[in-house]
Amino acid sequence: VRVALMADKAEQPARTGPVIVAVGSGKGGVGKSTLTANLAVALARAGRKVGLVDADVYGPSQPTLLDTEGQRPRAEGDKLVPVMSRFGVPMLSMGHLVEPGKALAWRGPMASGAFGQLVDAIWGDVEVILLDLPPGTGDVQITMLQKHKPAGAVIVSTPQDLALIDAQRAAQLFEQGKVPIIGLVENMAGYVCPHCGETSDPFGRGGAQAAAEQAGIPFLGRIPLSLSVRQASDAGTPPAAGEGEDAAPFSAIAARVGE
Ligand code: ADP
Repeated sequence: VRVALMADKAEQPARTGPVIVAVGSGKGGVGKSTLTANLAVALARAGRKVGLVDADVYGPSQPTLLDTEGQRPRAEGDKLVPVMSRFGVPMLSMGHLVEPGKALAWRGPMASGAFGQLVDAIWGDVEVILLDLPPGTGDVQITMLQKHKPAGAVIVSTPQDLALIDAQRAAQLFEQGKVPIIGLVENMAGYVCPHCGETSDPFGRGGAQAAAEQAGIPFLGRIPLSLSVRQASDAGTPPAAGEGEDAAPFSAIAARVGE
């Protein structure tokens, strides 16, 4: 991030406020939001001043993941004040601004405008904002590159080929936007059966690492497919906030991102 930070400063001397680290994926459902929430919690536990923006305007899940559903951000002047999660992470999500469960059928410019409000909020002493991007390469991504350029990007993929092809597309978006790629995370690899203890690989294993090496992108680590990760996430208790074995892979990856 340090190198990325310098690159960001060199290109955009006017930008002040927290450094943005984007978390992206080529497609939905690969665990991008889960990773972002847990990286934020792990970084906060490590003493970093970290905030989170849920830019997944069409399917915001961070209020559930970080247990801030129902909280409403205040406005000061024309800016929003982030809400505080009980895990020490100030955050803003479209989910805080719209009725829970209501689908958003916004056109691109509205989504981009909303995204700007979330990023340009009153972040106080926050140094790093983790940005949970919508999947793919749409309007929000373009606004991000034009107006709120991240200092670095983390890409999440599951190990199977199709997801990896999409992940490469996400990587290209950042490369074209001259955003340094911090690395690739492989999620949902290696399922440990809670009954017999045997490890199986529903989506394969090692594919993301191989793809990262091939593309010259650092491999940041692997998060196993785990029933308890899913259950804890749905319950608003991110595994990275606990002491169980589910926390370890998240804190290891957070340490690398925090460098
Ligand atoms: P995305 O943000 O990429 O759409 P999510 O983070 O919302 O993906 O994850 C999709 C679903 O998969 C969620 O129900 C989440 O709890 C689950 N999930 C994510 N990572 C894991 C994992 N490592 N093990 C088990 N379930 C996971």
